[in-house]
Amino acid sequence: MANVIIIGNGPAGISTALYTIRAGIETTVIGKDFGALGKASEIENYYGFSQPISGKYLVQEGVEGAKRLGVHFISDEVLGLNFTDQFVVKTKNEDYSATSVVIATGTSRNTPKIKRLKELEGRGVSYCAVCDAFFYRGKDVAVLGDGEYALHEALELLQTSNSVTILTNGKTPNIVIPETIKVITTPIEALDGDEVLESVFFQDGSNLSVSGLFVAVGVAGSTDLAKKIGAATENNRILVDENMSTNIPGLYAAGDCTGGLLQISKAVYDGAKAGTAIIKELRNQKVKTA
Ligand SMILES: Cc1cc2nc3c(=O)[nH]c(=O)nc-3n(C[C@H](O)[C@H](O)[C@H](O)COP(=O)(O)OP(=O)(O)OC[C@H]3O[C@@H](n4cnc5c(N)ncnc54)[C@H](O)[C@@H]3O)c2cc1C
Repeated sequence: MANVIIIGNGPAGISTALYTIRAGIETTVIGKDFGALGKASEIENYYGFSQPISGKYLVQEGVEGAKRLGVHFISDEVLGLNFTDQFVVKTKNEDYSATSVVIATGTSRNTPKIKRLKELEGRGVSYCAVCDAFFYRGKDVAVLGDGEYALHEALELLQTSNSVTILTNGKTPNIVIPETIKVITTPIEALDGDEVLESVFFQDGSNLSVSGLFVAVGVAGSTDLAKKIGAATENNRILVDENMSTNIPGLYAAGDCTGGLLQISKAVYDGAKAGTAIIKELRNQKVKTA
């Protein structure tokens, strides 16, 4: 049976869910926190409220309304996304399959301020293990991060690289790291290399020679997830057509992660467009297979 998984329980994700569930499509939303709205203490430019409301209140009400209609909610962090005969959404705790997926994870990207990091992007600095591991076969690489997402990327790289070191940049890792992966917790001073990345220098004067540094700080962001499955991105936003469809059939994106006006009203509009496009797509498939 057709089903949709929506990654993100912000206004874009919930708005999508309201459409798909009411069309009788099994709908699951996976989210991990309040998203951008968790930081908004007073909202007074969104339709329908006579008094300012908090972002958290809006999220809670959105989630409750969707639950009432039968949307299934999972509180978890999504780490990866791929496609076999269906989409597979990989979270910290489990893998879920779906016929359609919507990325509605908002816009933040955790790029730490490290000297020469930006300059070496694409020349040793990467943001996606599954996309770029191939280029570092048999080489020494490092992953920057200290959470589940960093571990996920490190394990991916371990399959093809000579060695993988997790660099926590001064943080205490909050994950269980297998012995096959080295860990350095010393704060990073700078990256180094002429044409391409050659080494990481630490604040205690030591250094580590690496050919690749994979940034996986915090959680997987929207463009990280999109890139893992080959969806087109540009300048930290996912590219979509007028129906919020990406270049991957069955994969949609909505809200802040697609750029444009970073406001609730636009996120809700995107969600409505994605939801109606999914309904149309699944109905067309049904007609073809009948
Ligand atoms: C301080 C502040 C004030 C604002 N004030 C206003 C305002 O007054 N009016 C207005 O219109 N807009 C305001 N905005 C903007 C508004 O919050 C956003 O435009 C809107 O929330 C975007 O909705 P979204 O659904 O695209 O993303 P978000 O609301 O950011 O939701 C993203 C969702 O994705 C989930 N997520 C992300 N990564 C993962 C992952 N790896 N695994 C699982 N789940 C994940 C999060 O848990 C969250 O549920 C404000 C933003 C901020 C930061």
